[in-house]
Amino acid sequence: PQIAAEPELTDGFHLVIDALKLNDITTIYGVPGIPITDLGRLAQAEGMRVISFRHEQHAGNAAAIAGFLTKKPGVCLTVSAPGFLNGLTALANATTNCFPMILISGSSEREIVDLQQGDYEEMDQLAIAKPLCKAAFRVLHAEDIGIAVARAIRAAVSGRPGGVYLDLPAKLFSQVLDATKGEKSLVKVIDAAPAQIPAPSAIKRALDVLKGAKRPLIVLGKGAAYAQADDLVRELVERTGIPYVPMSMAKGLLPDTHPLSAGAARSTALKDSDVVLLVGARLNWLLSHGKGKTWGAPGSKKFIQIDIEPKEMDSNVEIVAPVVGDIGSCVEALLAGVDANWPAVPSDWTETLKAKKEANVSKMAAKLGKNAAPMDFHGALGALKTVIQERPDAILVNEGANTLDLARGIIDMYQPRKRLDVGTWGIMGIGMGFAIAAAVETGKPVLAVEGDSAFGFSGMEVETICRYNLSVCIVVFNNNGIYRGTDVNPTGGEDVAPTVFVADARYDKMMEAFGGVGVNVTTPDELKRAVDAAMDSGRPTLINAVIDPAAGTESGNIGSLNPQSVVKKK
Ligand code: ADP
Ligand code: MG
Repeated sequence: PQIAAEPELTDGFHLVIDALKLNDITTIYGVPGIPITDLGRLAQAEGMRVISFRHEQHAGNAAAIAGFLTKKPGVCLTVSAPGFLNGLTALANATTNCFPMILISGSSEREIVDLQQGDYEEMDQLAIAKPLCKAAFRVLHAEDIGIAVARAIRAAVSGRPGGVYLDLPAKLFSQVLDATKGEKSLVKVIDAAPAQIPAPSAIKRALDVLKGAKRPLIVLGKGAAYAQADDLVRELVERTGIPYVPMSMAKGLLPDTHPLSAGAARSTALKDSDVVLLVGARLNWLLSHGKGKTWGAPGSKKFIQIDIEPKEMDSNVEIVAPVVGDIGSCVEALLAGVDANWPAVPSDWTETLKAKKEANVSKMAAKLGKNAAPMDFHGALGALKTVIQERPDAILVNEGANTLDLARGIIDMYQPRKRLDVGTWGIMGIGMGFAIAAAVETGKPVLAVEGDSAFGFSGMEVETICRYNLSVCIVVFNNNGIYRGTDVNPTGGEDVAPTVFVADARYDKMMEAFGGVGVNVTTPDELKRAVDAAMDSGRPTLINAVIDPAAGTESGNIGSLNPQSVVKKK
């Protein structure tokens, strides 16, 4: 008698993994725990790279920046309720920054959660995630996993990219399905981020405005860096001869040393330009909302804006020539109109910017050469500027207050997508998550330049860096506190001031605890040598850079955002 063969089975675990792999998602960033521990194990067994963190926020930040670097959604995997909430900060930040990512979180039993009967880690995660991301989906049946993953990918990368939440209740993972049926339920997403071609009339309008400019300016934002249309963007700048200013994560799209870069003459460029072409940059607080004294006399400016998101137009001021589409397609269409008759940029404008730039660069150079101890920010950053000049393919991660603002101005970038920083929110805490993903995704050496306060938010991830033996060199600018280390408690009481840390802490010892290299440096020369050694060896390294506690200003460049008390002291 013949025995019928048992049908081969698959289950929720395997369908999630297969759906991701089918769509070329090969890395998961996360923190294991109930109910997703086995999902991580099985994903690794199935050949995926599974990078485990010590806290979900950093895994989420890693996924988000992986999305920025690769144009594929970065995936973060978290446990229910508290783990989910920890990851949610990163999801919201990804959405704010237009980085594609998918937060996949396990969740507790629907029936119990919905009746609020008090389950283990009970929380209505889908409802909480919804306002903080582009799209949020929950999957109740294993046969829907393929569609759900496809929708999540499409939502994350199409149009304006952003964060997507995928809620997977614990019960889903063990649901079984006939393997053939399971395989058929998977969806390979075709053309996940379709080209969005601008209307010819919009291109003509933009070209007409641009042609009439006397003092034109191009502003490149991180959307332009994300778009990976590097050659087209460069061609637009060079063929029109229009000076450009890069936003911080667009630095290096063209080298900061490019003759048409007006980065070092930013204030003049924004204030005195008459026509501004925004390429993947929003007129938000980082550009003073397109108005006020940053932008010169009221009504003196015409804005042309290229953006994939139609709602971005007129968000702060009138856009006289909106160009809606993806940056590659839009820039290509503009270039078709830049012919031999294209008017040269008036030389008084380019000369004005050039003179301003040269003056600012030489003023800055004088501050960078000092080899004094204790170091100030300029001395230390002068050394790091040389490091990046000598190693232009290294990735620079940067956060802090003074450490951020000064590094952005001082360290020139030479290649696209090499500068990763605090982004649209100006948040602290992205450091180690970004550094880890940058190393994992690109295989290039990473230099993380961190204020001591900023580093504290993700510092425990140095263990993760050591565990995966990543070529990450962290430099902690240690000035004993937030902004400065010299504030005093006005009451004379025992507690230090709220902005002050343990004096003379040795962050380098943290790295040594996990087998990495720790170095303490007090001069720019020592700093340069230590970073070079780290990058040559590729070993995880943390350099404690001793900075004068009195160096630094309140909130770096954005002190004006601090509300001041008007009540006089008694
Ligand atoms: P920055 O802070 O550097 O000025 P923003 O994050 O404010 O940059 O702006 C990025 C803009 O780029 C967003 O408005 C986003 O919609 C847009 N964007 C992102 N990717 C693309 C793309 N591929 N094509 C067109 N616009 C894009
Ligand atoms: Mg500090």
